[in-house]
Amino acid sequence: MRIVVLAGGIGGARFLLGLKSAAPEADITVIGNTGDDIHLFGLKVCPDLDTVMYTLGGGIHEEQGWGRAGETFAVKSELAVYGVGPEWFGLGDRDFATHIVRTQMIGAGYPLSAITEALCARWQPGVRLLPMTDDRVETHVLIDDPDADGGRKAVHFQEYWVRLRASVPAHAVVPVGAEQSKPAPGVLEAIAAADVVLFPPSNPVVSIGTILAVPGIREAIADAGVPVVGLSPIVGDAPVRGMADKVLAAVGVESTAAAVAAHYGSGLLDGWLVDTVDAGSTAEVEAAGIRCRAVPLMMTDTATTAQMAAEALTLAEEVRA
Ligand code: GDP
Ligand code: CA
Repeated sequence: MRIVVLAGGIGGARFLLGLKSAAPEADITVIGNTGDDIHLFGLKVCPDLDTVMYTLGGGIHEEQGWGRAGETFAVKSELAVYGVGPEWFGLGDRDFATHIVRTQMIGAGYPLSAITEALCARWQPGVRLLPMTDDRVETHVLIDDPDADGGRKAVHFQEYWVRLRASVPAHAVVPVGAEQSKPAPGVLEAIAAADVVLFPPSNPVVSIGTILAVPGIREAIADAGVPVVGLSPIVGDAPVRGMADKVLAAVGVESTAAAVAAHYGSGLLDGWLVDTVDAGSTAEVEAAGIRCRAVPLMMTDTATTAQMAAEALTLAEEVRA
């Protein structure tokens, strides 16, 4: 079975661990979000691709969910002594090596897709990890700034998310460069060859929404003629982790499992899993033309997550029939 998964960082990566365990024989292609990418200290950092790569490759800091296990921060402290920031973005010494290799390969002219493949040769994630695009796409968030023209300014997503902890209202979320971007080599081919497409419980706006903003990807999924099944990142009307409610509000979507399903829409989504605490919303989702089931959606360990993935594949078979 060929499975295509659109993935952000932590939510996508943890789900993929479960999916690999539930479907060990499957051929899995992951289309990763690169809208979170940022240049720091002259290096290109791809947080979501790396979270997937480290998680599936066994190098992730498990409790934190991002960055390397057993990390040290000597380089960051040395930079701070020089007064060189930003100090709000955590880059450890081991992690730095990944960004140095990536940046060196960019300098040598390699596209991000080839670089990701080279990095994965070390990590052996057991999936084919593709960036959504080789082109530069950067998610920006529009926030209030009394000093700016019009009283608002755009900041990089990482500044909004990591430095400001999404503590100020987001008026808009813009994937800058997306309109001009092209899907990376292999992306459209993988979707066309897929037996099923899954949306893990990743952020619907800044992870999956950004991937869908690359021209051609949304259309390819809608036209693939295979089941498309998603799992809600919203449980009991709140994100399980992080501040997805803030960016959902920016695009006018309520923080409920049903509203997120409606946001994707029945033109894209055939099936949707909500957590058992949201069982009351399955009728609303089905009324919107999306097959819906309530199952436990907390990724507490790989066995539980594998069960979630199995439920998603079962729902896919149901909608296919
Ligand atoms: P990020 O790029 O690291 O923010 O990760 P993703 O976009 O892939 O996933 C973030 C989303 O994962 C958040 O909106 C969380 O609500 C969701 N999430 C995290 N853990 C769980 C879980 O155990 N269950 C569910 N259903 N969602 C989760
Ligand atoms: Ca992310």
